[in-house]
Amino acid sequence: MAIDHSNPLSTTLLGKLDYDQLTNCMRCGFCLPACPTFRETGLEPESPRGRIALMKAVADGIMDPDQAFQDQMNHCLGCRACEPACPADVKYGQLIEQARDAIEDHADHSVPMTGIRKLFFKGILPHRRRLKWLGRSLAAYQKFGLRHMVRGSGMMRLFPKHLREMEKIIPDATGRGVVERLGAVYPAKGEMIARVALFRGCIMDVLFAETNVNTVKLLAEAGFELVIPKEQVCCGALHAHSGEMELARALARTNLAVFREAGIEYIVSNAGGCGAQLVDYDHLLHDDPKYSELAGWFASRVIDVSQLLVDHGRMPSFADSCANASEPVTITYQDSCHLRNGMKSSNAPRQLMKQVANVSFIEMKEADRCCGSAGIYNVTEPEMAGRILDHKMEHANSTKARYLLTSNPGCLLQMKLGVRKQGANSHMEVKHVVDFLFERIGDCSKTKA
Ligand code: SF4
Ligand code: SF4
Repeated sequence: MAIDHSNPLSTTLLGKLDYDQLTNCMRCGFCLPACPTFRETGLEPESPRGRIALMKAVADGIMDPDQAFQDQMNHCLGCRACEPACPADVKYGQLIEQARDAIEDHADHSVPMTGIRKLFFKGILPHRRRLKWLGRSLAAYQKFGLRHMVRGSGMMRLFPKHLREMEKIIPDATGRGVVERLGAVYPAKGEMIARVALFRGCIMDVLFAETNVNTVKLLAEAGFELVIPKEQVCCGALHAHSGEMELARALARTNLAVFREAGIEYIVSNAGGCGAQLVDYDHLLHDDPKYSELAGWFASRVIDVSQLLVDHGRMPSFADSCANASEPVTITYQDSCHLRNGMKSSNAPRQLMKQVANVSFIEMKEADRCCGSAGIYNVTEPEMAGRILDHKMEHANSTKARYLLTSNPGCLLQMKLGVRKQGANSHMEVKHVVDFLFERIGDCSKTKA
């Protein structure tokens, strides 16, 4: 068949896709049962094998990159559950990012959508000061009765249902992140094992600043001195997943320069989504002659907080005394896909949770399957995200756990949404693993910020 690259998107795809990765796929289909969108629909184009075949067909010029093709690329959660299932080691996560990057180059968004994307990806996420301002504004909205006024006015009805639901589970925001609360250096307790840097995240430090604070204190208890470089920026994960690869690279270069100066042994992440992006900086910048070596240095030092504690820390004694619980407390865990499939860390958080006294850990069925959060997937693809979440909550409920723990802010919000949807019937509480562990370090006074 004649190769037709008359459509400019086909040419861009051919230029951006790693063609070797496309041809590495031997179409065995081992990845199909692992894929949430395939399991939901049973459709080949909604599977990793199907999407790879579509990418190749378009890159080869034998298929037009029409709207249906672009929709298929957007339906993918980017959860990378297909990667560990693949005997040919196809780097599917990289392929889908390359495909979305090419699509974005030719995207014809509406004027409002162009404005929203520009504001979010360029105007807010890369800028710490603007994020702090956003945190303060959101906190004012939440605290000073504005939220009640907005809800009472019926204004929320202008928004789609899934956004109205999400507004209800947004945690308390703050403009005072971890550096403002603890300073840029936090000493180890007792003999220092290593000096490590905290990657504080962008949204994480606005909506989950308490988890950042608890991460620092937990690691200090375990013998690490924490450095929190003030000039660090967003990891670029949301940019990379949304076809904004050049912006993701620019953010990566800033982080490389900042962390190189910090004199540290490890760069610690407490958010699976950020960690998987940071660990991928060497691939992201492998073509950059100035930064590729430094990117390799950086990526080799990135580690998740649970993995650092298990592999290198002086384990604190985790008791349940702070919770004043006389009965054993039951917990379960939802893997962060990017922590599991990107950072290859799934045992360490479980090992830590099982060390807490008076705690009974119950493995949830299909804990390794995506919850439907997937960056901003639950905003852009609410129907599929909702179906996946409903299945997840069935499994979570069947554990009858008091706490549902996870290791990524997006998963945490999605799980909260799932619990909220069940209304008063659910007494399950959703927490970050770090917060749960920190609350259970013997001396309860440490939990006071
Ligand atoms: S990344 Fe997730 S949703 Fe996308 S093809 Fe792979 S398993 Fe399926
Ligand atoms: S498991 Fe790997 S090689 Fe097999 S179809 Fe899926 S992506 Fe292709």
